[in-house]
Amino acid sequence: MRSHEELEGGFRAGWGWWRRAVGAWRMEGLGSLEGISTWLEEGNMEDCVFCGIAEGRVPSEILYSDERVVAFRDIEPQAPVHFLVVPRRHVESAFHLKGEDGDLLAAMFAAARQVCSELGVESSGARILTNVGPDAGQVVMHFHLHVLGGRPMGWPPG
Ligand code: 5GP
Ligand code: ZN
Repeated sequence: MRSHEELEGGFRAGWGWWRRAVGAWRMEGLGSLEGISTWLEEGNMEDCVFCGIAEGRVPSEILYSDERVVAFRDIEPQAPVHFLVVPRRHVESAFHLKGEDGDLLAAMFAAARQVCSELGVESSGARILTNVGPDAGQVVMHFHLHVLGGRPMGWPPG
């Protein structure tokens, strides 16, 4: 017999799956069966930890949240301030953004600035970067900005 928590977790995961599928149907223009299968083959509906965080299924320290964007502390911080800014919509990387995503990017940078201000590092500044693909060391295949601050950053990066 499954516990109440297990059932509730399963229900929330299932609900999140449907929300992503229906959201993608509208946002990505998946009009044809071929479009849908390509989109599925790209791994868009595989379990994604940052979708989980955005949907509240995976615990994290949320620093900012609105209808399109979520920011939360990195689990392995590389600086006194290190948080990630993600779109709620599953986008694999910066190379998968679309022409109409300009407003989304602006909203992500605005969220980064607001959190930096709240954490007291807006005037000292921050390094904002995004890893794309294997050479950059992208590990989580959900587009995210790293925001690092609270100490001087070296250059060139490693
Ligand atoms: P990437 O290498 O893909 O650019 O960065 C992924 C980042 O996500 C890493 O800095 C890693 O520490 C962070 N990360 C991975 N899994 C989790 C998680 O479950 N929760 C949080 N808060 N951060 C995570
Ligand atoms: Zn995702």
